[in-house]
Amino acid sequence: MTMELSRRLFLKGAGAGVAGSALGAFGFADAEAANAAAIRPFKLTGTTETRNTCTYCSVACGIILYSKGDVRNGEKADIVHIEGDADHPTNRGTLCPKGAALLDMVHSKTRTLHPQIRKPGASAFERVSWEQALDRVARLMKDDRDRNLVVKNNDGVTVNRWATTGFLAASATTNETAWLTYKVVRSTGIVAFDNQARV
Ligand code: SF4
Repeated sequence: MTMELSRRLFLKGAGAGVAGSALGAFGFADAEAANAAAIRPFKLTGTTETRNTCTYCSVACGIILYSKGDVRNGEKADIVHIEGDADHPTNRGTLCPKGAALLDMVHSKTRTLHPQIRKPGASAFERVSWEQALDRVARLMKDDRDRNLVVKNNDGVTVNRWATTGFLAASATTNETAWLTYKVVRSTGIVAFDNQARV
């Protein structure tokens, strides 16, 4: 196909980009359609970015969660992609293989999503609300502490030691969360305090 392309025609064609690309404006509509069909849409278009921390270990790498679905409009948000946060001072966008596979963990069928309780004598867990779960944990902790807190040792020294309940916290938190968790747990007198990274 031959075609005379004056500067005026070229500018006119380029200006038609609002209604279609320059290819279409110059009479290559089929080529444009084929070209568009061959281009895979960018998968993160229209997603919401949420910054978070990798859940696995105490390195606490920064991650970005990409989700689809607007929860403000009653839609269910679905995480479609996770990658390292390039602005995070710890990992500068990198992730180890575990962190790089976080999306599989999020969508795992065996992942526990709700608090559950197995009552004495029952063979199966039943789902409870977060309110019920927190109330029950608080009740059991209070009762156990009232019964077993050691206020003074054999020499009469104040120790406020509570050794019959343990607390498992998360290592993958911010410094501020870790500091607060430590203060709350130690202020109760709990001795056995650990997390998945044992730090
Ligand atoms: S990406 Fe790897 S190194 Fe970083 S916090 Fe997660 S598990 Fe730890």
